[in-house]
Amino acid sequence: MSGPTSLSLDPLQVRKAGLEWANFPLAGLQFEGLSLSGVRTAIGLPQLSVCFDVAQALPFSFKYNHYFLSHGHQDHAGGLPYLISQKNMNSHGPAQVYMPTDLVGPMEEILALWQKIEDHQYSYELHAMKPDREIFLNKGHFVKAFPTVHRIPSLGYTVFEQKKKLKAEFIGRDPSSLAHLKAEGQEIDDITQVPAFSFTGDTQIEFLYSRDWVRRSRVLCMESTYIDDVKSVEHARKWGHTHLFELLPELKNIESEKILLIHLSSRYGGGGLENLYQRLRKLIPSSEWERIVIFPSR
Ligand SMILES: [Zn+2]
Ligand SMILES: [Zn+2]
Repeated sequence: MSGPTSLSLDPLQVRKAGLEWANFPLAGLQFEGLSLSGVRTAIGLPQLSVCFDVAQALPFSFKYNHYFLSHGHQDHAGGLPYLISQKNMNSHGPAQVYMPTDLVGPMEEILALWQKIEDHQYSYELHAMKPDREIFLNKGHFVKAFPTVHRIPSLGYTVFEQKKKLKAEFIGRDPSSLAHLKAEGQEIDDITQVPAFSFTGDTQIEFLYSRDWVRRSRVLCMESTYIDDVKSVEHARKWGHTHLFELLPELKNIESEKILLIHLSSRYGGGGLENLYQRLRKLIPSSEWERIVIFPSR
């Protein structure tokens, strides 16, 4: 007789039965998350405690302090009430959530209803974002919003690294004279701001030219919902998305060290990842293979 030889569960199988999120380094940054068009998108940078979109509130994202929502579609923002509820239950302090201005009112209404249902007051702060608004995550990093083009109000976000370096004319001066100059209000440092990571959420290709820093981001994490002839560029645009065929001619204008493609349609899941990579190798010029990274679609 064949069958299970033990009643206990194999821990590895149990882990596989759940939803596993990707976790990997890229161009000096650590990423974790999941992304699949119309199903879920949440991409976190744990070292900065910042998460872009929240999908259905996946457990990896509970630990973050800052959440930036690109737009209100459920596959990106649907989990917010649960996320806030979980954070409150675990005494994480008020979640700081940033979103397009038009989304704040409806989200407050939804959260008010959940607080009524749960008979519990959540602690959280919703912040209205608009293009060019900057939010500091810590002394050396801030997030800046840029316009994107989707069927409902939407934004993209860039993490900037800000560094201070003593101006050349002050190098060699003793610390007390520098402190004196500073006290007098003189700017003694050169400030450099480097766009390290840009995240688009859902958008048409026009986002690329909404702000020039986006094309200079070290890592450009952008949606590419469709990648082949099965769906046309017109179809992608009709639904407010980007097609790989629109991105290919733009690659020469993008300075990014890595281009991370997210939000692929679930139609590309069949046949496994290797099948997908083979198809992409035929479409993307070999000189770009090192630079373009496909976020594992799950
Ligand atoms: Zn989406
Ligand atoms: Zn959307």
